[in-house]
Amino acid sequence: MTLLRAAVVGATGRMGKAVVRLAAEHGVEIVRAVARGAEGDDIGVLAGRGPSGVRVERGVGSLSSGGFDVVVDFSLPEVTAELAGVAAGVGAALVSGTTGLDEAARRALELASMKVPTLWEPNFSLGVHVLVSLVRSAARQLGGDFDAEVIEAHHRLKVDAPSGTAARIVEALKEGAAESARVVHGRTGRPGPRPAGEIGVHSVRGGDVVGEHTVHFFGPGERIELTHRASDRDVFARGALRAASFIAGKPPGRYGISDLLAERAPRA
Ligand code: NAD
Repeated sequence: MTLLRAAVVGATGRMGKAVVRLAAEHGVEIVRAVARGAEGDDIGVLAGRGPSGVRVERGVGSLSSGGFDVVVDFSLPEVTAELAGVAAGVGAALVSGTTGLDEAARRALELASMKVPTLWEPNFSLGVHVLVSLVRSAARQLGGDFDAEVIEAHHRLKVDAPSGTAARIVEALKEGAAESARVVHGRTGRPGPRPAGEIGVHSVRGGDVVGEHTVHFFGPGERIELTHRASDRDVFARGALRAASFIAGKPPGRYGISDLLAERAPRA
């Protein structure tokens, strides 16, 4: 079997190390690794899978020499923005799971998608995609009589808030019920009675929580709670590696996890 050659950006992080550790099971060979810190160290050793001969490089600029089919990125928005240009320049497919992307990073990904296959996904777990679809359907059926609130919890080291997944859930609530809904992030002071059509979003941070999202629909005399809990970040790494195999060799364009799921063979 020919292995897919991948560069990992953010290779020494929690997600990057999981990608390196699980790559071989998905037919992916890690040939380059970029991070801030630990330059020159063997990424296989850092990821706990033994020597790989691949040394950590500093800065995504070094990737402009090419030699890989796909880049898998779990880093920071400013790094992703720079990486998008580099991937487009060397003709490598780009899979990014970095969250908290600003306008500049999103624009850079859009530009890259005109030259190379690009897939940006704030949550690579299959379960979350089912949650988002359930939320859209529930919002559509419940309409304006129910108040929607989103609560997400993550580990204490997460740097952005709310999570990219919470933002995706808010989009689904709007698609299902009201595009014009006002989104409030937390409440304090005297916000007064809750107006109809508001969507509240609340971020909880602490410990080593991998990722939890709950959507509450509060109605008159009843309530529904939809919850997804990730207990192991390997689920995200596996999703990213599947996405890498899925988009490598495809025509340039913006791909989503739903394209990957749509291609799944139906169960017998
Ligand atoms: P982390 O802090 O553990 O790792 C960040 C990595 O980025 C490190 O390797 C660090 O060295 C590297 N880095 C920092 N500055 C750099 C620079 N200038 N150039 C190159 N590399 C640089 O973070 P993490 O928990 O691995 O998460 C990384 C990102 O992935 C975050 O945005 C997080 O929200 C996101 N994430 C996404 C998913 C998903 O399913 N899409 C799942 C988990 C985390």
